Amino acid sequence: MSSESTLRLVWVYPDLLSTYGDRGNLLILAHRAAARGLAVEAIEVRSDEPVPVSADIYLLGGGEDGPQALAAQRLLADGALHRAVENGSALFAVCAGYQLIGRSFTAKGAQHEGLGLLDLVSDRGPSRAVGELAGAIDSRLGLPPLTGFENHGGRTHLGPECSALATVTVGVGNDEVSEGAWRGKVLGTYAHGPALARNPQLGDLLLRWATGTAQLRPLDDGWHDRLRQERLSAVAAA
Ligand code: GLN
Repeated sequence: MSSESTLRLVWVYPDLLSTYGDRGNLLILAHRAAARGLAVEAIEVRSDEPVPVSADIYLLGGGEDGPQALAAQRLLADGALHRAVENGSALFAVCAGYQLIGRSFTAKGAQHEGLGLLDLVSDRGPSRAVGELAGAIDSRLGLPPLTGFENHGGRTHLGPECSALATVTVGVGNDEVSEGAWRGKVLGTYAHGPALARNPQLGDLLLRWATGTAQLRPLDDGWHDRLRQERLSAVAAA
């Protein structure tokens, strides 16, 4: 965490990457950090502004193909996300944001260079994946099942240098088998919803990574847990 003990959160490119309420991830992180007594600075950095290097957690959201390709181009030129991740910052990326932190992705029929922060490539699937998404999260992360909403045309193939975030139980995710990916403090998912509102324990994982705290004071997550159960039961019954 930054020297003045303020947790710095950066929402990267709200003007390009913000579909399906993904900005909610910033609000949830800020709320859950403040509820633990942490001082929080939440910054939104537009795509015509430089990305600061000194933040603790960076957030990327989803987007249409055009804005996604432009965001990747500008982030590659900017270079700050690479430096921040090298310096130990955490990064959470959703859908288009997830695809563009891989090595390459397909958008508008063309292949684009990604940031290479995760060892994965994304291409186009046979059909659009739209609907509920759920999965059992990598047991090393110690989290309850992931639930979310997905809407993407891409499919993602993981290389050996990253791990799947979850094993798919409902929906498509990366390729109908695995969903999302993580390595170190970099984590990507196809889950919108926004993901951290539907999976607050995932938000706490990012806060633990950023603060170096093994355990955070528990919050009342009864409402979130009921929502998770309701969604899992609804898809099981469908
Ligand atoms: N444009 C990407 C795709 O369709 C990402 C979509 C999204 O972010 N929802 O695969």
